[in-house]
Amino acid sequence: MVRPLTDIANLLFPKVCPGCQRPLLKSENELCIHCQTGLPVRLHLTSGELIQRFYGRVLLTEAHTFLSFSRSGLSQRILHEIKYGGNRELAIEMGRLFGEKCSELELYKSIDVIVPVPLHDSKLRLRGFNQSELIAKGLGEKLGVPVETKAVTRLVKTSTQTKKSRTERWKNVERIFETSQSVLSGKHVLVVDDVITTGATLESCVQSILDAGAKKVSAGCLAMA
Ligand SMILES: [Zn+2]
Repeated sequence: MVRPLTDIANLLFPKVCPGCQRPLLKSENELCIHCQTGLPVRLHLTSGELIQRFYGRVLLTEAHTFLSFSRSGLSQRILHEIKYGGNRELAIEMGRLFGEKCSELELYKSIDVIVPVPLHDSKLRLRGFNQSELIAKGLGEKLGVPVETKAVTRLVKTSTQTKKSRTERWKNVERIFETSQSVLSGKHVLVVDDVITTGATLESCVQSILDAGAKKVSAGCLAMA
């Protein structure tokens, strides 16, 4: 397809790789080939760190994070570029790369539907997009699984959690989601988020989906901080 305006724009303002700031080649999508092959891919399995974080709190069938996380590392730069740089295409592309890896795992053959962790309406209006939804879109594309964005609603706009203690954070996110009964009932749901910090938001979301009658819930996130 010929897109002269896009081509001119790319010529004047070449897209750069968010990983290394070098201009992207035409054959490269959102990351240069060097950064893409250098991604710190590390899928955690059930017995791993991620499940331990939820142990005794909520019944997760399996949980995976795509990338290992280090401050000032490549995964941090990517997550920052998605969330604060507003790079939507990068979010979708990361979902696709995650999906390619996931499709090698047995678990993902039984996923019926993908649910991104929703933002509160006011936050969505402010930011203009939900990064988890974009990641879910790329993931769903690669796995051939539908993405459901209407079933779960975020009722409460939680305050910023960084200065709270761990216990306070858990309290702060109790019952902040509402899931409509029919759509997810009897299904194996994969909940998708960009980053897990305490896991409290994800836990609340998973619990709400289980309460609405889902058969199983697993979780997939780009990284765990
Ligand atoms: Zn790069």
